[in-house]
Amino acid sequence: MSVFPQMQGERLKPGMVNLPVIGWVKFRQSREIPNGGVVKQARVVKRVSGWYVMLTVQWDVSVPSSTPHGEGVGIDVGLTSFIATSNGLTVKRPRFFVDAERKLKLLQQRVSRKRLGSKNWHKAQKKVAKLHEYVVNCRKDWHSKLSHQICNDAGMVFVEDLNLVGLSRGMLGKHCLDAGFGQFFNILEQTCFKRGVYFQKVDSRKTSQICPSCGVETGKKELSERTHVCSNCGYTTDRDVAAAQVVLQRGLAAVGHTVKMLAVRVAAR
Ligand SMILES: [Zn+2]
Repeated sequence: MSVFPQMQGERLKPGMVNLPVIGWVKFRQSREIPNGGVVKQARVVKRVSGWYVMLTVQWDVSVPSSTPHGEGVGIDVGLTSFIATSNGLTVKRPRFFVDAERKLKLLQQRVSRKRLGSKNWHKAQKKVAKLHEYVVNCRKDWHSKLSHQICNDAGMVFVEDLNLVGLSRGMLGKHCLDAGFGQFFNILEQTCFKRGVYFQKVDSRKTSQICPSCGVETGKKELSERTHVCSNCGYTTDRDVAAAQVVLQRGLAAVGHTVKMLAVRVAAR
């Protein structure tokens, strides 16, 4: 990857970009530069499918920073499901990724059976890289769609601070967490920003050991325990959904809302 931090003079004309040192290069512009926007930086990246130039554009807009408002949604990074939300949604990792990852492994094995550096080795290598890029793009796309879906019914989104998840999950420490969560949270944060939804990270410690309904510590759950059943108040729900509800309560408390316990809310209706 090459970065051109100082783009100066005339930088763009239809179908051409002016890179420092290199000069005018043909390119296909995928989207318009907004009026009054100034190209500040160009990054040239080689991917399997070709060369890409990413332009950083600066322009003056007033972006209202979103304040806490509306319905809050808490999100828990699940163990069996990808995520669970405080309103009871559990989202599984799409079957597609499981299949694609299996195929990727197969192709990688094929590479290792070829003679290093040979023509066939290069061919096999290219197949791996192509599928890999495809999976990466599909994952981003899926993360983006999921983020929009979450923003559809929320004014505030609260997620766990992933840096603390490892501490709270004990044996299911950080290494067990899918690296995709970090990317998903980044995309979710950007989506919230664009949609005017408030986004905040909260302490993730013991989210799975507290009853969201009465606040009592219910203790560590075994991996096989899929349901949260509170011995104190009897509240029963999916374990990941319960954790997401704890995340929501911490988020609401963090933004200064008085937190109503679930049982109270149910009784009030
Ligand atoms: Zn309880």
